[in-house]
Amino acid sequence: MKLVVLGSGTSVPHPQRASAGFWWESKSGAVLLDCSGDAVHRMAEEHLDWPNLDAIWISHLHLDHCGGLANLLFGMKWAPQTQDRRQPLNIFGCEGLEKLLQAVDESHNYKLRKQHFPIQLEEIKAARSCEFEILPGVRAQTFSTPHTRESLAIRMTDANESAVVYTSDTGFSAELAKFAQGADLLIIDCSFRRNKPIANHLDLDEAMRLASLAAPRRVLLTHLYPEWDGVEIEAEAKKLWPGDVVAAYDGLTLDFEKR
Ligand SMILES: [Zn+2]
Ligand SMILES: [Zn+2]
Repeated sequence: MKLVVLGSGTSVPHPQRASAGFWWESKSGAVLLDCSGDAVHRMAEEHLDWPNLDAIWISHLHLDHCGGLANLLFGMKWAPQTQDRRQPLNIFGCEGLEKLLQAVDESHNYKLRKQHFPIQLEEIKAARSCEFEILPGVRAQTFSTPHTRESLAIRMTDANESAVVYTSDTGFSAELAKFAQGADLLIIDCSFRRNKPIANHLDLDEAMRLASLAAPRRVLLTHLYPEWDGVEIEAEAKKLWPGDVVAAYDGLTLDFEKR
């Protein structure tokens, strides 16, 4: 499995940190985890095979996580690299995605879902935990997080039982730690250093508490607000949890396999 950080930042414009997006690749394909406006061009910047992207996951409707979805579909519709593509693109995500794309379509008659290849869209209800196949042989499970009504965390497990969990934006939840139990990689919201101004994100203390409960093999701290600029994030994190912690930065690539 491979993960490339496209955006380690937030909605706040920042010179080094783009808004949310992660490229996750396994033997059976590639998934884009969240699609901010920045993520669309960041895929090209990282020389990733975006014309053959297999699936997209959208965690919630905040624009720093879904604002690029329409852009990407618009780009794929006209890009020379996708004119011969016939394999379907599967979009999975929170409730409201249909409505979002429909609203964009209606604003300019884009027909974003009419492409040279089929686009399938499946909304996952936040009210209950769901399970589906995100890529052939890759199982996805979801968990409703305390962030916005529709927000979801995802756990993807491949045929070798390697698991990656992406919390996306979330407040603290011991149940979420259970959901993330024993993951090989836990990608976690670490919005604030301390004294968080809003309840529905994590600060470092809570992020590391969640890590210690979930006991993953490795933690990736992301969704970093500008207040983290100049701070040794990993050193601060290690004071609170002795495990393997990596602070995300744009362009970071992690290769990981089952022990
Ligand atoms: Zn966000
Ligand atoms: Zn959010």
